[in-house]
Amino acid sequence: MSDQFDNDAYSKETRLIYGRSHSEKWDYSHHVIPPISSSATYRLDSAQRGAQGFIDFAHTSDQPKHKEPIYIYDRLGEPNKDILEENLAFAEGGDKAVTFSTGMAAISAIFGVLLKTGDEIIAHRTLYGCTYSLLTTWYPRYGIDVQFINLHMIDALASAITPKTRVIFFETPVNPTMTLIDIAAITALVRDLNRVREEHEHIRVVVDNTFATPFCQRPMELGADFVMHSLTKGIGGFGTDMGGVIVSPQNYYDMLLLYRKDYGGVLATKSAWPILVYGLPTLSLRVKREIESAMKVAAFLEQHPMVKEVNYPGLESFPQHELARKQMRDFDGNFAPGTLMYFTLKSASPQQSRDLGERFINYTADNAYTITLAVSLGHLRTLIEHPGSMTHSAIPAEEQVKRGLDPGGVRLSIGIEHPDDIIRDLSAAFDHLAKG
Ligand SMILES: *Cc1c(COP(=O)(O)O)cnc(C)c1O
Repeated sequence: MSDQFDNDAYSKETRLIYGRSHSEKWDYSHHVIPPISSSATYRLDSAQRGAQGFIDFAHTSDQPKHKEPIYIYDRLGEPNKDILEENLAFAEGGDKAVTFSTGMAAISAIFGVLLKTGDEIIAHRTLYGCTYSLLTTWYPRYGIDVQFINLHMIDALASAITPKTRVIFFETPVNPTMTLIDIAAITALVRDLNRVREEHEHIRVVVDNTFATPFCQRPMELGADFVMHSLTKGIGGFGTDMGGVIVSPQNYYDMLLLYRKDYGGVLATKSAWPILVYGLPTLSLRVKREIESAMKVAAFLEQHPMVKEVNYPGLESFPQHELARKQMRDFDGNFAPGTLMYFTLKSASPQQSRDLGERFINYTADNAYTITLAVSLGHLRTLIEHPGSMTHSAIPAEEQVKRGLDPGGVRLSIGIEHPDDIIRDLSAAFDHLAKG
């Protein structure tokens, strides 16, 4: 059977449905769907083969590219995860991918591999709440310094970098405000600085690409060194399983495998399989539909008299619309502004803003058929939440305001419902608020 996976004649969208028709990870050539593999441990046949498996593990750079693996134990590697990883690396345009049990396990792994005591991280000032908590609760204990700056301002970055800086980390779009960070501008600056640094002192750019998904944005094409995803979100897509991934260059692959083996946060086979079989193959289809709906929902919100501001990169009024058009592109090069938006209601004070946001959300929680009050995002169902008191509650209230979060801000993650139905439910919530 010919292997079309590496054949550029076919679109990325198609190749994510098929994956590779053959994988040396496992002979399943007579299955149309990769079978689910479930075995904590593997038959080794002989002591010599077992020994070879241990020698090979995390020494991939000395091995031929398409070597058949010797499976030993699930925590070291197993067919479903390995096939999923091939497809994830392909989706992002990276050399390799290593999956983890959750997005947070993936973030801690890449920091664990890149940083040691005495090093510094520079992160954007607004981050997913748990990432913020990881950096502020735990890293100071290990003597790793974190500087939060506004990465929006390239000049601020240039002056914040010190000889100890090893990692620049950010999300774009930023969760939840939807601010964009200019990936190419940051990687260009870092490339210049790295020219005069020793290899072991190089600064690495790590992008959390969860909000955009690889369908809408591929940071490695813009010079990023590593890409991280929560597979729980848009890539998994169905809201059934947790997972995370780091997409990396070949020369960090073995360290990531070693880290995963020793810290133990492996993706369960039973979670890898649905992401491989349902999530990735439908990514393009789902996200295209969600973008189409998001454009309509954002336009509806924008014209609503009770709405103060809608942040959606697809709107002409979005302050960084031009940057969005530059860096958010789908596999075919079309503008792909994503499936999330953030909006605020008109109010007289921060307290009133918070009250209105909460009432809006509570009304939809009770009454809307197509909008569910829940954290997470990128699922089939439209989800609404209040970042100030939920996903970003780890950031103290005064800090939230400094970091661009409105106390009443509402985050919407658009699903695959008919867009008119989402708008109907939003409309009903506004009508309810208008009644006072
Ligand atoms: C959810 C999320 C994470 C964490 O992923 P988990 O799978 O929940 O551990 C990290 N970054 C962003 C932007 C997220 O939305």
